Amino acid sequence: MNKSTVSISECSSYDLDAVQSAVENSLKGLGGISSFVKPGDKVLIKPNMLQAKSPEAFITTHPAVIEAVINILKDAGAVPMVGDSPGGPARGMEKFWKITGFCDVCKRTGAQLVNFEKSGIYELERNSRKYRIAKPVIDADVFINLPKIKTHGLTKFSCAVKNTYGVIPGLQKTDYHKLAPKPSDFAGIIVDVFALSKPHLNIIDGVVGMDGMGPSAGNPKEIGVVIASDDAVAADSIICYYLGKNPMEVPTNRIAHEQGLGESLIENIKVLGEFPHIDNFKWPPNFAGSMEMIPSSISRALMKLWWSRPAIDPELCTNCNICVKSCPTDAILKERPTPVFEYDKCINCLCCMEMCPEKAVFEGKSRIYSFISRFSGSD
Ligand code: SF4
Ligand code: SF4
Repeated sequence: MNKSTVSISECSSYDLDAVQSAVENSLKGLGGISSFVKPGDKVLIKPNMLQAKSPEAFITTHPAVIEAVINILKDAGAVPMVGDSPGGPARGMEKFWKITGFCDVCKRTGAQLVNFEKSGIYELERNSRKYRIAKPVIDADVFINLPKIKTHGLTKFSCAVKNTYGVIPGLQKTDYHKLAPKPSDFAGIIVDVFALSKPHLNIIDGVVGMDGMGPSAGNPKEIGVVIASDDAVAADSIICYYLGKNPMEVPTNRIAHEQGLGESLIENIKVLGEFPHIDNFKWPPNFAGSMEMIPSSISRALMKLWWSRPAIDPELCTNCNICVKSCPTDAILKERPTPVFEYDKCINCLCCMEMCPEKAVFEGKSRIYSFISRFSGSD
């Protein structure tokens, strides 16, 4: 049996030359970029774009890592594109691209930015559940996953497997929390999405990661590595192991391993390069562990109190009905004094929010949604 290989390179700064040389060095251990792409291939790069935050917040994949990968792909004759869907409502994608630094990188390198909210979806099925996956992920010749090493309040860890969850456009991502409020059930959904989108290659930004209450409210943590692997599960498991966590305690690792989607047993993983010794990496408190004690049926019933959906501020609405016309599922009815939502038809795309000229449509949230999403994130 060929062992899964995880290739680690030291990288202590986001200087572009340093990052590019670390990425190239990591790829060497896997046979180089030519093992994954050939000239003319359309390659989708998916960084972590959880929120519209600057690179210095260390929530999103650093633009230097994206630029290094684009440069390597262009040298190999491939055609790189960059796309992701953020965690919350993606109103004004340009703002996300600009603030995260992705826009500047793509302008400099000529790579295309793709908007998952507008690119269409394929509806795919796994484990009797249907998932809407952004078309560019499936249509690309090669899919390269560019996560960042972060903790996660609900699933403990967010890296290569979890990063694929962003291939689901818009607020549909949050809908799955309703279906699967328990961490292990939700991890099963993440693993389904990972299996449906399965990246050919993972290049991980571990120069500065995040510990504590990740994936957005934790603390920046210098780790000093760039890691490459074609096995996302093996890469995540090795990182957990070196950061002091039994990989099998992270539900995405365990479930993906059990389903034969990657290797989580450390003894079966070939590691190239050195993972630095990291002192005092803080894993999130086990808030979510108590949810595992509640039967799934009860936790699902509780989740009826969990919702995030469009709502209209009557003070701002002029009853122009632009939102009615913009709704792809006819979920908004013409009424006075304001239109009315039929939520059972709503797919939470938030086109109505985007199109409203008066900024009268906002994201309404239940109390339990606001509380739990602080712990879970949805990157
Ligand atoms: S588009 Fe905005 S202002 Fe117009 S009816 Fe809808 S909510 Fe009201
Ligand atoms: S009401 Fe229609 S436009 Fe608004 S979020 Fe729902 S499906 Fe989208």
